[in-house]
This record gives sequence, structure tokens and C-alpha cells, in this order.
Amino acid sequence: MIIEQIPVGAFQMNSYIVGCEETKEAIYIDPGAEVDRVIDTARGLGLEFTQIIGTHAHLDHAEGAQEAKEKLGIPYRIHEAEMYNLQHMPDAARMYGFPEPPVPGVDGFLVPGETLTVGHLTFEIRLTDGHAPGNITLYQPSVGEEPGHAIVGDALFAGSIGRTDLYKGDASTLLEAIRTQLLTLPSDTVVHPGHGPETTIGREAETNPYCQPGAEKYL
Ligand SMILES: [Zn+2]
Ligand SMILES: [Zn+2]
Repeated sequence: MIIEQIPVGAFQMNSYIVGCEETKEAIYIDPGAEVDRVIDTARGLGLEFTQIIGTHAHLDHAEGAQEAKEKLGIPYRIHEAEMYNLQHMPDAARMYGFPEPPVPGVDGFLVPGETLTVGHLTFEIRLTDGHAPGNITLYQPSVGEEPGHAIVGDALFAGSIGRTDLYKGDASTLLEAIRTQLLTLPSDTVVHPGHGPETTIGREAETNPYCQPGAEKYL
């Protein structure tokens, strides 16, 4: 598996290129700002995007979705519960004083419990809500020597968790999702968050205050 993290735009949101080494097909995860840079990087790696996925549809994670769809001519999918956030991106942009992005059409929905395939790679789709109602995690279990990988959107960060004061955010829902959907993964699973550096499930389980029993007291 090829995975490339590209922090983009004012929010330094991590777009990800996830590609199959054998077929060279790739997923564009979270099309935010700097779409051209992400497309160029994928080409440089010899990869061809075949689908665009949103972990969720906050402005920073979806502002480039329409541009990416037009430039690549491939489908864009999110969890259905993110349609509100997607449609309200222009309002969010106005609040920050940013130019309003076009609202992209959605070509299908990601359903937790189902799998997502690119080339020879298969990911489980897990619901990690609480930061956003349809924030999904893509999880690929360990293969041979290669540890598992979890692309978690804004559910879990190195040393922290996503904010819960936005539309349908809920702190106890988020802690519960982290406990049941992420902390249950093998400890060497590499976590690829929507902002900041990569980490592992084991490191967060040990050191992240929000991953400790009774973390509700920090909310
Ligand atoms: Zn977010
Ligand atoms: Zn974000």
C-alpha cells in the first residue's frame, strides 16, 4: 500500500493519496485546498485516481471536491449523514471570510460495515462520529509484515481528539466511537489523522488523555 499525507490550505488539513502498488489505482481522500498539488503528487508516484472519498464534509475536507471531480472525472462519495455539512460549506466559508466553494454532487454513499476496494486493497468502513455525524474511518487490517492502517478523519489526533462544538458534534459520542471503533484495533495500527502527524493506536491508548478511562472529565 502506498499512502502519502499532504497537508493543504489554511487549516493544514491532511489530504491523503492511498494507492495499490500492483494496479497503481488510488483513492483521493479529503479533497480540500491545493487540488492541483495533490493530483501532481499522485502522478509523480505513478498512481491514477479512480475515486474520491470524504472522511466527512467540513469545509477544510471538502472545499476542493467539485474541482477534483471536474479535473479527474471520477466519483465522490461520503457518508449520507454528511450531506448537511456538505451543503453548508458556503456558510462555513463566509464565517471564516473565505471564498465560497461550489457544493459538489455526491455519487454515492459510504456505508459503515461495508468495504471499500481500490486495486488489491480492501478497507473496512467504520463510523467514528461525534466530531461530525458521518465521520468515517477507513481501516485496512495488517497484511503480513505490514501493520494495519486507519484513516480516521477528525475523530482522533496525535495527543488529542476532534472538536465537538460544530453541527451534530457530541463529545460522549466521540469518546464512545474512539473506544469501540479505534482503541479495539491492534496497537501497531498506524493512525492517519485529518490534521497533524501520524501516530499509532498503541501510542494514543497510552498517552492521549482522551483515550483513558474516565476521559469524560476532560470534556
Ligand atoms: Zn472536521
Ligand atoms: Zn478538519
